[in-house]
Amino acid sequence: MKLHLLALIILLGGTLAAQDDVSNEDQSAYEMKLGKADALRDEIGQARASGDVEREITRSMELVFYLMNDLGDRVESYERALALEDLLDQHRDTEVYQRIAPRLYFELGYFLQDQNDFASGRDYMIRAIELGEEYGMDRKTMDWRLHLSAVYMNLDNRDASLELLDRVAAQAALLNDPVAVERAHEFRMCFHLHYDELDEARTYGLLSLGEYNPSNQLAFRNGILSEIYYKLGQNDSAAVFAERALEISVENGWIREEQEAHKHLRIIYKNLGDFERSVYHHERYDELQSELRSFETARAIGLANAQKVETERKLQEELASQQLASQRFIILLIAIGLAVLICVVIYIANRLQVIRNQKAEIEREKLRAERSERAKEQFLANMSHEIRTPMNAISGMISSLLRREHSDEQRVFLRAMKQSAANLLVILNDILDMSKLSYGSLDITSVPVNLAGVCHHVVSLLQQKAREKGISLSFQAPEDFPEFIMGDPVRMNQILINLIGNAIKFTEEGQVALTLDWSKDTYTLKVRDTGVGIAPETLPVIFEQFRQGEGPVDKRYAGTGLGLAITRQLVELQQGKIWVESEPGQGSTFSIALPLIPASQTTGPDSTISEERLKEISSQLGIRSILIAEDNALNKMVIEDDLGWFFPDAGLVFAESGKEAIALFDRHSFDVVLMDIQMPEMNGYEATRAIRQLESAGSAHRRTPVIAMTASLLKDQLDKCFEVGMDAYIPKPYTPRELVITIAEARGFSGVARPGQSSVPGMARKQSE
Ligand code: ADP
Repeated sequence: MKLHLLALIILLGGTLAAQDDVSNEDQSAYEMKLGKADALRDEIGQARASGDVEREITRSMELVFYLMNDLGDRVESYERALALEDLLDQHRDTEVYQRIAPRLYFELGYFLQDQNDFASGRDYMIRAIELGEEYGMDRKTMDWRLHLSAVYMNLDNRDASLELLDRVAAQAALLNDPVAVERAHEFRMCFHLHYDELDEARTYGLLSLGEYNPSNQLAFRNGILSEIYYKLGQNDSAAVFAERALEISVENGWIREEQEAHKHLRIIYKNLGDFERSVYHHERYDELQSELRSFETARAIGLANAQKVETERKLQEELASQQLASQRFIILLIAIGLAVLICVVIYIANRLQVIRNQKAEIEREKLRAERSERAKEQFLANMSHEIRTPMNAISGMISSLLRREHSDEQRVFLRAMKQSAANLLVILNDILDMSKLSYGSLDITSVPVNLAGVCHHVVSLLQQKAREKGISLSFQAPEDFPEFIMGDPVRMNQILINLIGNAIKFTEEGQVALTLDWSKDTYTLKVRDTGVGIAPETLPVIFEQFRQGEGPVDKRYAGTGLGLAITRQLVELQQGKIWVESEPGQGSTFSIALPLIPASQTTGPDSTISEERLKEISSQLGIRSILIAEDNALNKMVIEDDLGWFFPDAGLVFAESGKEAIALFDRHSFDVVLMDIQMPEMNGYEATRAIRQLESAGSAHRRTPVIAMTASLLKDQLDKCFEVGMDAYIPKPYTPRELVITIAEARGFSGVARPGQSSVPGMARKQSE
C-alpha cells in the first residue's frame, strides 16, 4: 500500500515538473482558491460532526457553487450537489430547505444542460422554478425561466422556449424591472440567433443594450451582436460591437471574453481589409490563448494536487483501516492461540489426570500382586511346614523302627515306607525349590567340590534302583580331571539325581551311563540312556515347568514335570547350559556344560557317612545335656528316639514352648539347644533372641549352640534364624546325618563335613556367607 502511495507521488511529481511554463502567480492564486475550498470542506465536516444541519447545508451549497464557478471542478461540484440533494430531502420542513433547495435544483439543472443532458436539466429547472415560486423567489425564478427557455430551445421545443421568453418579458415589464427586461431580450437574441433569424436577433440584441446592463452581460451581449452583424455581412457594425465587448472585457480582466472579442475582430478587420489590425488581434488572441492555457494548467495542477491530497487521504484511511484490520487479525490470532493453548492445557491436564489414575491403578495392581505374591509365599511356607511336620514324624519313626528287631517281611515293608517317604520329600523339595527359583531366593554356593566324588556318590545311591530294573548304571571320568573344582555340591547332587533318576525311570532295558569330560575352562556331564527316548515335538519344551512326555507310553511314568525345569535353572544359575538329544525308541542323552574353575583344596574326598560313622562322631562330641524345644508330641517322640540313639549319654530336657525353653536355659546349662520355630506362647526366634540376651547379660553360661529344627525352609525364614543368633538349622524331616553332622559342626567339631560331599544345609549356608 505504501508503495502505491509512493508511486503515485512520483507520478504526480513528474506531472508537476512537466508544467514549468505555468506562472507562479496563477498557481498560487489557484492554490488559494483550493485553500478556501478546503476550509469549506472542513467547516462542513465540523458542522456534520456537531449535528448543525443548517450550517452543513448552507456551507455545502457554497462549496457546490465555489467548485463549479471558481475552481471549475465540475465533478466534485456535481457529486456534492447530489449529496446535498439527499441531505435536503431529509430536512424538507426546514427553513434552510426553502432557502437552499430551489437554488440547488437549478444548479443541478444547469450542470446537466451544460453536459448536454437537456431533458434532466429541464426537469431540475422546472422543480427549481416551482419551489422558487412557492417560496417567493420571484426574481430568481425569472432568471431560471430564461435558462429553461434555452434548454427548451436546445430540446427543439421552440414554442415552450418562446412562451417562457414572452412570459419573463411580460413579468419583468410588470415588475418594472428594466434589468430583467434587458436580460429577457438577451435570451431572445440568442433564441433568434439559434434559429438563424438574424434580423430579430439584432433587434432584441440592441434592445438588451439599454442603460441597465450589468457590465459582465454587456460584454457578452456586445460580443453576440458583433457576431450577428458579421453574419449579416455588416462588418463595420460588427467591428464596433466587438471593440466594445473587447473594451469591457479588458476593463474587467475577463480573459475569455477578451479572447472571444479578438477572435471576432481579427476576422472582421481582415474582411474590412485592415490587415494591420487583423494581425494585431490575431497576436492578442494567441497571447491570450497561452495565458488561458497557463490558467488551465494551473487549474489542472491544482486539481492534480487536490486529487493527490485526496488520494493520500484515502490511502491513509485505507492504511489505517488495514492496520486496524491487521490489528484485529493479530488479536484474532492471539485469541485463537490462547484458545488453542487453553485447549492444550486442558488436554494435558486431562492426560495427566488419566496418567495419574493409570499410575494409581498400576500401584494398586502392584500392591495387589505383591500381596498375592506374599500370600502365595506364605501359603507355600505354611504348606511346606504343615507337610514337613507330619513327614518328619513319619520318616523319623520309620527310621526308629528300622533300628529295632523285625521279621524280614516287616523289614521289606518298612524299607518300602521309608522309600516312599523319601520320594514324597523329593517332590516336596522340588515344589519348594521351584518357588524359591521363581522368587529368585535360591542361593548357589561356590566351594571346592570333588566332582568325581559327587558323581560316584550319586551313582552308588541310584545303583540299587538300576539293578532293580535290570539295567546297568556306570560312571566314567578322565584320569586327569581336576580333583577339586569350585561348585555347589548340594545342587550338583540334585542335578545328577534328577537326570540319572529320569534315565533309569525311562529305560526298560540296556544301560544308563554318566560320563564326565572337560576342556580348558568347561566341563561336561552327559547322562546317556537306552530308554524310550523323547518325541521330536516334545524336545523343545522338555525343560519347561510341568512338561511331561505325551502319549500313552509315558503315562506309565509318574512325575511332577518339575525336575527338568528345576535342573535347567540350577544349571543356568551356575552359568552353565543344558541340552538334550534323543530319538524315540533309541534313548536320550542329557548334557550339561558348566564353567570349570579349579580349586586348590587338598583334602581328600569323604565316603558316604554310615550310621556307624555317625555314632562314632556323636560319641566324640562329649555332649551331656540337650535342650529340645518342641511342641509337637510326635516330633518329640522322633527326636527323642534319634537323640537317644546317637547321644545315649546325654540328658534330654524338653520344653513345649519358647517361654519354657528360656526358663530352663536360665536355670540349667546345656551343651546344645535344638529349637523348633513355630511354638505356642513364644516362637523359636524370640526364644533364641532371649537366650542370647541372657548370655550377654553375663550369666555363667558360655555361648551355647542353638540349632533351629524347622519345617519352614524358605530363604527369609532361614535368614531370620541366623539373624536372631542361631548357629545352624536342621530341616524337618531330617536325615540322621543332617542331625548329627549339624550338631557336630555347631560344637566346632572339624573333619566331618568335608567339601565335595553333600554337606548339611545349615552349614552350607554358613559357608556361603
Ligand atoms: P517328571 O517328574 O515328570 O519326570 P521331569 O521334568 O524330570 O519331570 O521330566 C519331564 C518329562 O521329560 C518327563 O515326563 C519325560 O516325559 C521326559 N523325560 C525326562 N527325562 C527323560 C529320559 N531320560 N528319557 C525319556 N524321557 C525323559
